[in-house]
Amino acid sequence: AAGNRVPCRFPFSRVSKQDLAFFENLLPGRTIVDPDVLMTHNVDWMKSVRGSSELLLRPQTTEEVSKILKYCCERRLAVNPQGGNTGLVGGSVPVYDEIILSTSLMNQILSFDQVSGIITCQAGCVLENLSNYLEERDFIMPLDLGAKGSCQIGGNVATNAGGLRLLRYGSLRGTVLGLEVVLASGKILNFLTALRKDNTGYDLKQLFIGSEGTLGIITAVSILCPRRPRAVNVAFLGCSSYKKLLETFQCCRGMLGEILSAFEFLDSACMKLLEKHLKLINPIAENSFYIVIETAGSNADHDKEKLHNFLEAVMASFLVTDGTVATEDAKIKALWSIRERVTEALTHDGYTYKYDISLPLEKIYQLVEDMREYLGDKAKNVVGYGHVGDGNLHLNITSHSKDQALQEAIEPYVYEWTARYRGSISAEHGLGLKKRNYIHFSKHPEAVALMKDIKHMLDPHRILNPYKTLPDQG
Ligand code: FAD
Repeated sequence: AAGNRVPCRFPFSRVSKQDLAFFENLLPGRTIVDPDVLMTHNVDWMKSVRGSSELLLRPQTTEEVSKILKYCCERRLAVNPQGGNTGLVGGSVPVYDEIILSTSLMNQILSFDQVSGIITCQAGCVLENLSNYLEERDFIMPLDLGAKGSCQIGGNVATNAGGLRLLRYGSLRGTVLGLEVVLASGKILNFLTALRKDNTGYDLKQLFIGSEGTLGIITAVSILCPRRPRAVNVAFLGCSSYKKLLETFQCCRGMLGEILSAFEFLDSACMKLLEKHLKLINPIAENSFYIVIETAGSNADHDKEKLHNFLEAVMASFLVTDGTVATEDAKIKALWSIRERVTEALTHDGYTYKYDISLPLEKIYQLVEDMREYLGDKAKNVVGYGHVGDGNLHLNITSHSKDQALQEAIEPYVYEWTARYRGSISAEHGLGLKKRNYIHFSKHPEAVALMKDIKHMLDPHRILNPYKTLPDQG
C-alpha cells in the first residue's frame, strides 16, 4: 500500500567528527557508537522496522537533554526519542540515521507523597519498577500493560498508553498531573505541578501526551496513583459467542459496579497460539471466547460475595459455560499471563500485522470475522483480543513471512471498515511510522492541518522523530 512507503530522507545534516566530540564532552561514556549496542536500538520490539543510526546518546538529566536538542537543532541533526522500545507502530526506532536519544538512564524517582498518592519521577523509570516501588508503599500505578518490564513511563505518556486498568482508572490524560518537557530548541518547559485542579489557561501538557516524541522530549512526569486494593480477584471465564460475551459484560458492570477493574477478552484462535507457541495451559474447557475479569476493592468478603453472585447469575443464564477464579497472587498472575502473553505468542507465529482499533462494542468482533472471511487462506491466522471494557480490539493477522500482497489486501480495507463505523484506527498504540498515512480515516483534514501547524511551531526544522505520526502529505 502506498501509505506504507518509507518517505525520502529529509535533508538533515549527518553526524560529523566535531559533533561526536561535542557529545562525548557532554556525555562522557554515554555517547555510544558501538554497532553491537546500536543494533538493538535500531530495531523495534516486533522486529518489523529497522533504522541505521550510528549514534546513541544516554543523558541522565534534563539539562543534558536540553543541551543535546539545542545543539541538534542548530546543526539540523534529527533525533529519535526512545524509551523502552516496546512501541508497536514503528515509532521508537529511527527510519534513517537519526540520533537515538535514550531515556534509560533517566530513572530516578524524584518524590512520592503518601497522602495524595502523587509520584514524580524521571521519564526513564521502567513501569514495573514504579509499580513495585508503589506497592511497597500501599499504592499502585494507574496503568498496567504486558510490556511493563521494559516500557518506561516517558514512553507510556508519549504514546498515551491505555492498557489493562484503563476501565477503572481512566486514561493518562486524566492521571498525569504534570510534565517536564524539552522542546526541539532545547527550551525546558516545566509543567511539573502536582495539582488535581488547575484551570489557568490552556492545558499544554495534553499536547505532549500521545504526541509520540514529535513535539518534545518528556523528561519527567508526575502522576496520580490509586491506593493498593486490599482484595483482588480474577475470574477466567468461557463464552460460546461474542453476543454472550457482551451480555456478560453488561451483567458484570451491573453486578460488580465499583469493584470491576478489568474486562479483557481473547478468542479461541489466540488460545490455540498460546498453547502451541508458549505451552500455556487453558485452565478451563475449550470455548469460542475467553474473558478475564478483575475486581479490586477494599473489603475481601464484600468483593467475594459480589463476585460469587455475579458468577452464579451468568452461569445460571448460560452466558458463561465454564470458569475459574483466583484470589491468591500466583494464580492471579497465571490467569493474567494468558491474556498478557498473546502479543508474545503472536510473534512466534510468523510475521504479524497488528491493528489496534476502537469500535462500538457490538461491532468489535464482526471486524475479526469479516477479515477472516475476506482474507481466506491468504493469511495464516486472524485473531482478536483486547480491552472489551474500553471498546478496543487488537486485530492481528499472521503470515509465514512478510507478505506485501497480504498487507495490500488488509490495508486500507481494515481502515475503511473502521471508518464506516466511526471507529479509531489507533485506539492506544499511536500512529508512529506504520499508520501515519492513515490518520485521515479517523481525523478530519482541518484537524490534521492544525496538528501540522502545531508541529511547525514547536519544531520548525522537523528534527524530532521525523517521518512519524503526521502524514507525508495532506
Ligand atoms: P518506546 O517504544 O521507546 O517509544 C514509543 C514512542 O514514544 C516513540 O514514538 C518514541 O519516540 C516516543 N517516546 C518514548 N519516550 C519518550 C519520551 N521520554 N519523550 C518523548 N517521546 C518519547 N500499549 C498500550 O497502550 N496498551 C497495552 O496494553 C499495551 N500492551 C503491550 C504489550 C506488549 C507485550 C508490548 C510489546 C507492547 C504493548 N503496548 C501496549 C505498546 C507499548 O508498550 C506502549 O506503547 C508503551 O507505552 C511504549 O513505551 P516505551 O517506553 O517502550 O516507548
